[in-house]
Amino acid sequence: MDMKIGVVGLGIMGKPIAANLIKADYAITVFNRTAVKAKAFVDEIGGVMASTPAEAAKASDVVITMVADSPDVEEVILGPAGVAASEKKGLTVIDMSTISPGVTKRISKRLQEAGMEMLDAPVSGGEKGAVEGTMTIFVGGREQVFKRCLPVFEAIGKTITYMGESGAGQLTKLCNQIICSHNLFSICEGLVFASKAGLDVQKLISALSGGSAQSWMLSTQAPKILDRDFRPGFFVKHEQKDLRLVLEAAREIGVSLPGTSLIHQLYNSLETEEGGATRAHISLVRAVEKLAGHEVGK
Ligand code: NAP
Repeated sequence: MDMKIGVVGLGIMGKPIAANLIKADYAITVFNRTAVKAKAFVDEIGGVMASTPAEAAKASDVVITMVADSPDVEEVILGPAGVAASEKKGLTVIDMSTISPGVTKRISKRLQEAGMEMLDAPVSGGEKGAVEGTMTIFVGGREQVFKRCLPVFEAIGKTITYMGESGAGQLTKLCNQIICSHNLFSICEGLVFASKAGLDVQKLISALSGGSAQSWMLSTQAPKILDRDFRPGFFVKHEQKDLRLVLEAAREIGVSLPGTSLIHQLYNSLETEEGGATRAHISLVRAVEKLAGHEVGK
């Protein structure tokens, strides 16, 4: 492929994204703050390693950032060794991290002033979607830039939607997080209820999957809850970051989200436990179990 791509951040999501871009024949330059992870990626999968995001940008036409929170994206894009320091006119930055829509707009404006473009393109579909190249992607920014980058999105995602101007992708993702966290919470309550009432939870999951309670969350996450498989695909700390972003945006917009607040508070009780922040987000069930004095499947 003609377009050269830089990938900044090789965590749970960034690593499979970079791997799928290599599979699609893009020339890739990678940067990761913890350099050993970038070295391992280049040795095992391919690409070239950069020592700073600016160096990755110099070698690329498009740079994908997949880091954690708003300050992290600011650092890798606008920091002293960030993408913008490359001064590469015409460069497009695609930020796929979930961050504040307001911060996104600010970074986008700074990049435009420097002769660069930015799309916000947060994702849904979890680690599995990233590995399989089937992510759902919500894109904000200039439509013309989106159209130019569509082949890149198609190499790593399946359902790709242009949502509007800068920040619209992030707002869509926050909406996704409201709905997904409520869905997960309702599943946690249902499983604890069923288990303490003495139902066969395995049978319950398959019975519910045929009716109106059916969802991606039920079919993919409920079996993991039953297996007590809390290995992180999506960290509690990132879910909490997302719910914080939702509640901050809701305050700015003038919307009350009492349900989301409740879920955020329940996660607080998990996050403060030893090792709680880096468990899988489905460990939310533990908060409901504590209230019930009962563990699912016991
Ligand atoms: P992760 O495994 O924690 O990876 C985070 C990556 O960001 C790591 O490579 C980390 O580098 C890098 N990073 C963090 N802060 C940085 C900074 N200040 N400067 C430079 N690099 C920094 O997280 P993830 O699960 O891949 O998630 C990444 C983003 O995708 C988050 O915004 C998350 O909310 C979103 N997301 C995740 C999922 C999911 O299922 N996991 C799904 C949808 C969206 P180090 O290796 O040095 O720590």
